[in-house]
Amino acid sequence: MPVSGCPHGSIHVFNCDLHCHSTCSDGLLSADDLVRRAAANGVDMLALTDHDDLDGLPSAQAMAEELGMAFVNGVEISIEWEALQIHILGFAFDSADPVLNDGLATIRSGRIERARRMSAALEKVGIAGAFEGAMRYAANPSLVSRAHFGRYLVESGVCKDLRSVFESYLVPGRPGYVDHRWATLADAVRWILGAGGIAAVAHPGRYKLSRTEMRRFLGDFKALGGQAIEVMSGSHTQEHVEVFGRLAREYDFLASRGSDFHGPGESHVDLGKLAPLPEGLKPVWQWF
Ligand code: AMP
Ligand code: MN
Ligand code: MN
Ligand code: MN
Repeated sequence: MPVSGCPHGSIHVFNCDLHCHSTCSDGLLSADDLVRRAAANGVDMLALTDHDDLDGLPSAQAMAEELGMAFVNGVEISIEWEALQIHILGFAFDSADPVLNDGLATIRSGRIERARRMSAALEKVGIAGAFEGAMRYAANPSLVSRAHFGRYLVESGVCKDLRSVFESYLVPGRPGYVDHRWATLADAVRWILGAGGIAAVAHPGRYKLSRTEMRRFLGDFKALGGQAIEVMSGSHTQEHVEVFGRLAREYDFLASRGSDFHGPGESHVDLGKLAPLPEGLKPVWQWF
């Protein structure tokens, strides 16, 4: 399926982007605008994968239908594995599934309280008004995230860009970082599979795991029924692509491709603009 003939003898590689965010979580565009942008960028199939929230799916689906673009339900679930925050993507599930919806509501429920604690912690290092500042960016208040704090800290001149805000304030060991109880790996995989979906590890190159720990993590994920990993990601280097392409083959995981687009001017990879999946991998979208 991925390769089809085109006029003028050129080859069209099926352009699938299975990772992006709308204002239902920490993206900058509404679900509708995101879908319009994806279609304009030549995306053939899109999954909207907001953090811990499914509210954007119906309007994104309707807009994709209007534009003749294939659409897949998606979500990016925040989990904790051995004290690390990791993201698990779910694809092609039934968005009405009660267990999945209840599970996501549980993860969301502590976010406002966490945001207040982050703000109090930032206040102690001389940064005032962070809660109100972050909430101004959070179109969906129950999904207030570190990204919204990051935008406020850039806006208020504390740091010049998001990258330095995270490095200086919002990662473990820094003053604005506050622990939160996320789902377990087992919960996330069970919710996704229980709703008839496919579970994929998001941007595996981003986690601070040694090679041995990564193997243990992937082994746990596979044993729980996880089926895929994101090989092409907006946050992966060429080396990550090679490493995770090899691991996908070794563990017999399906391979995914997703920009992780959050918004124009903020994400360096736009919707549908990643390089294609390397040869020899099994694209996850062939299972949808
Ligand atoms: P949270 O779910 O509140 O822990 O926030 C996580 C979100 O913060 C991620 O989904 C990204 O959008 C954003 N984020 C995390 N790390 C970085 C970083 N180093 N630079 C920019 N954004 C980041
Ligand atoms: Mn995000
Ligand atoms: Mn993520
Ligand atoms: Mn993401």
